[in-house]
Amino acid sequence: DLLVVGSANADLVIGVDRRPGPGETVLGSDLAVHPGGKGANQAVAAARLGARTALLARVGDDAHGRLLLDSQRAAGVDTVGVLTGGAPTGVALITVDPSGDNSIVVSPGANARLAPEDVRAAKVLLSSARVVSAQLEIPLDTVAEVVRSLADGSRFVLNPSPPAPLPAEVLAACDPLVVNEHEARVILGGSAGDAPEEWADGLLALGPRSVVVTLGAEGALVADGESAVRVPSVQVAAVDTTGAGDAFTAALAWRLGLGDDLPTAAAFAVRVGAAAVTREGAQASFPTLEETQAL
Ligand code: ADP
Repeated sequence: DLLVVGSANADLVIGVDRRPGPGETVLGSDLAVHPGGKGANQAVAAARLGARTALLARVGDDAHGRLLLDSQRAAGVDTVGVLTGGAPTGVALITVDPSGDNSIVVSPGANARLAPEDVRAAKVLLSSARVVSAQLEIPLDTVAEVVRSLADGSRFVLNPSPPAPLPAEVLAACDPLVVNEHEARVILGGSAGDAPEEWADGLLALGPRSVVVTLGAEGALVADGESAVRVPSVQVAAVDTTGAGDAFTAALAWRLGLGDDLPTAAAFAVRVGAAAVTREGAQASFPTLEETQAL
């Protein structure tokens, strides 16, 4: 079983002809409200594939929180670990211009109140998880508590997004650390180099047991210190890459929990990521197992 520990946001999206300057007001399209946040996205992606999935997260006692709970339940996610209250539900205010570029303001809200004691109180969820997957849209202290609370034999997968310096204790638990190019470059700082193989080597030197670098249309690179293997993508017509990394990481974590080795799990995950980019949206774009196999 998979436990995702992470964020849940309402994505509020308005299309604009151009962004307002300071002190200016512009009119935009009708508002679209979508469930999002990396934690909520990963949980829905895994459950849609058929994974037994639970989410540990915090939302506000408000309409956005109910939207998030409803979307998790509709996908079949166990929401016993979705805590309510403490602050408004996290929100991403997104404007999209005609060229498709996004400008985003995030209010972490309740995500910032998902605390280490919430992890300690979720012992039952943690003890029944073969794989625990986290990201960094919740406090780093909370992620560190997850690492300390892992059951014997359970595996930890981290997507460090948004990228931030990580304590050695967290890095050492990652198996794998899953990064895209941007995250790899930020975490490595000036010493990044230009080849994904160099990023993987640099990241492995920081202490994780394994590393996966996602490479968009190029697929992924997996490395565990003994070998580095390229996993090519499936060729698809990309429509919207929002949430592709979340779908990839969820699929990877699920397959690792079923006993796949890292290259095998990544080969499945690139198909899930590819399927997700063929449709608009984040959660709305995540494929079922049948859709993934049909690709
Ligand atoms: P992120 O979404 O975090 O920026 P990537 O762009 O690397 O991460 O995408 C994550 C995964 O989604 C890739 O490893 C790949 O499997 C899949 N993917 C993303 N873009 C494409 C694409 N244009 N064609 C096929 N697969 C894609």
